[in-house]
Amino acid sequence: MSHAPFHLACVACAATFPGLELRYRCDCGGVLDVVHAFADAPSLGDLDARLASKAPLDRSGVWRFRELILPVDAQHVATRREGNTGLYDAPSLATYTGLAALRLKHEGENPTGSFKDRGMTTGVTMARALGMTRVACASTGNTSASMAAYAAAAGLEAFVFIPEGKIAYGKLSQALAYGARTVQIEGDFDAAMDLVQQVCAAAGVYLLNSVNPFRIEGQKAIGFEILQDLDWRVPDWIVLPGGNLGNSTALAKGMAELHALGLIDRLPRVAVVQAAGANPLYTAWRSGAETVEPVRAHTVATAIQIGNPVSWQKCLRGLRQTDGVVTEVDDQAILDAKAMVDAAGIGAEPASCATVAGLKRLVGEGVIAPDADVVGILTGHLLKDPDVVVGYHQDGLEGITATYANAPVKVRGALDEVLALLGG
Ligand SMILES: *Cc1c(COP(=O)(O)O)cnc(C)c1O
Ligand SMILES: [Zn+2]
Repeated sequence: MSHAPFHLACVACAATFPGLELRYRCDCGGVLDVVHAFADAPSLGDLDARLASKAPLDRSGVWRFRELILPVDAQHVATRREGNTGLYDAPSLATYTGLAALRLKHEGENPTGSFKDRGMTTGVTMARALGMTRVACASTGNTSASMAAYAAAAGLEAFVFIPEGKIAYGKLSQALAYGARTVQIEGDFDAAMDLVQQVCAAAGVYLLNSVNPFRIEGQKAIGFEILQDLDWRVPDWIVLPGGNLGNSTALAKGMAELHALGLIDRLPRVAVVQAAGANPLYTAWRSGAETVEPVRAHTVATAIQIGNPVSWQKCLRGLRQTDGVVTEVDDQAILDAKAMVDAAGIGAEPASCATVAGLKRLVGEGVIAPDADVVGILTGHLLKDPDVVVGYHQDGLEGITATYANAPVKVRGALDEVLALLGG
């Protein structure tokens, strides 16, 4: 196998392995980091020049940063021009959260509707670079939707393991539509995760869950793109939801690397928001514990309904590096925040809106100053989970009050009836 300008390093014991070796964990069980040589890191000017280029790699909001993400032979790259998502000024949500101003980066605008595409373009590219023809993942939905699409586009066979009855329909329909072999298992996400790891080891299938360190590399591009959107000004805070904790790991890792390369002169603080019903990181962080203990997860925000997060160790490291914080919000707060995000004309799936609910809490508690420069990440598209939207607005969700309900109005169809509605 040829030499690569990166290698793998164990987060637990610091053992190292070749970059192109097929492995997801250290022999000690620890998760792995991709460590780059960064021999030919681009300048910020180089990166900005690529915004005007029509070359396919430059048009991708991940591969534009390729030397910082995954320097491999371009023939292996599987891209759908992911990234390039909007960074929106959201004045109504600034008011809602108690901030003077707020920007939201909408990762729901990726090709399959979530940030998972940024990690999947690098993951599927590595599958090809390693000569693998079959890929698999366990998923609460978005990972499988994304993997199914990228595998189909790259001509790889895809296997998806999902917890029965716990996946939003928008996501399940994507996995089926893109042709992935979809296996519903009795049990939760954590059980599906255990099974898929065994299957991949036993059957020579490439594992594309976020334990795969190359997915993390692609997801670093969210942070890179936020900085590029801001003309490389570093915000005070970047806020995002946390489930398996791969995305928060990626954000902090990417920022620390830019800083070490001298491309930025300070780090943003990272705030991770968990659902109160799936809060193992929050519990550990609040008590100052060194390890994250698994919990049984239950939340309306299915994309973060994860009790045993695979990247907890890397996430804690990132929080220490960035002077980060962790908070939790309950389902009522998530869905009320979602109603506000949706009503702003932006719209996002429930897990994404934990960002806004968490911001409201952190500003309320004085952790984030009202005049701070804040970017929130919305992770997935509104249409991923239509059942929750319709349920909320018709006040049909158990245990949830539809604070900002916008229920459909029923009429017989007579003009005077409708005119009365419009008038008052
Ligand atoms: C995957 C996902 C998350 C959680 O990201 P992690 O990397 O697992 O912490 C949050 N929101 C959405 C929409 C997701 O798809
Ligand atoms: Zn190790």
